[in-house]
Amino acid sequence: MRIECKSLAKNIREQAKREAKGKKLYLHNIVVGEDEASLVYAKSNLKLLRKMGFDGKIHHLEEDEKILLGLIDSLNEDERVHGIMVNFPLPKNIDAMKVRERILPIKDVDGINPLNYGKLLLGQEILVPNTPRAVIRILETITNLGGKDVLIINRTPVVGKPLSLLLLNRDATPTIAHSKTMNLEEKARNADIIVVAVGKPGFLREDMVKEGAIVIDVGINVVDGKIVGDADFENIEKKAYITPVPGGVGTVTNACLIENLVKAAKLQGVI
Ligand code: NAP
Repeated sequence: MRIECKSLAKNIREQAKREAKGKKLYLHNIVVGEDEASLVYAKSNLKLLRKMGFDGKIHHLEEDEKILLGLIDSLNEDERVHGIMVNFPLPKNIDAMKVRERILPIKDVDGINPLNYGKLLLGQEILVPNTPRAVIRILETITNLGGKDVLIINRTPVVGKPLSLLLLNRDATPTIAHSKTMNLEEKARNADIIVVAVGKPGFLREDMVKEGAIVIDVGINVVDGKIVGDADFENIEKKAYITPVPGGVGTVTNACLIENLVKAAKLQGVI
């Protein structure tokens, strides 16, 4: 069974728009180096923002840490900027921790500043990374998370780690798996919910999923010019609930980013 995500994304966007109370909000998106995927993502976000009556700017920078940190400083100080997003992964010559620390926590719309992470660890969800938040929003529309066994196949700060904390806050029982995990297939077969974010097409097979389980496919891969996820959608769909790719987690993540922009503006006292 296919999990419909587009109407959820629309609801999140419309609610965010209502909460902005007519205030035009600006999101500045920073892409460093020649990362084509980040540029495509930033452009699609800008298009969505404009469609909603908000606006923003894409800063495409060369691979220079000083320039990047200087830009973040000026955006932090600029009252016309309500949200700052830096696209990861950053080039290796840039200290990612310095970048995370530099973004003003109340403008940190992708929740990457250590202060926002720390608050999440302590159970306070202020500005939380958008992809794991999108996963939670999808799950909450179709199930009650309390007591559920959730297998997350990903341990990165972008997806797996923050998602495990969001799940704990909702009384679920998360297990985090990664490339060194033993008996992954057995763990997957026992899970009520599987969140897969590995970046390998066809990674999650039908025989790894129990009947009636829920599969959230976070993966984004390009195969023969087409975007696909990490799961064997066609076969899993016959026995379990599963999100499509495209039109699944990514769509809801984009809506969650706008929701966080509005939240950030509230934290800044402009709404
Ligand atoms: P990443 O940094 O490459 O992390 C991949 C994760 O998968 C790591 O934790 C890795 O384990 C694990 N893994 C790799 N091979 C494995 C295996 N054979 N068995 C078990 N675990 C394995 O990627 P990422 O940035 O977190 O993103 C993951 C995927 O999600 C990508 O396809 C990306 O495009 C997509 N994504 C989608 C969205 C969205 O909004 N839809 C947002 C972000 C990312 P180790 O830690 O041991 O290496």
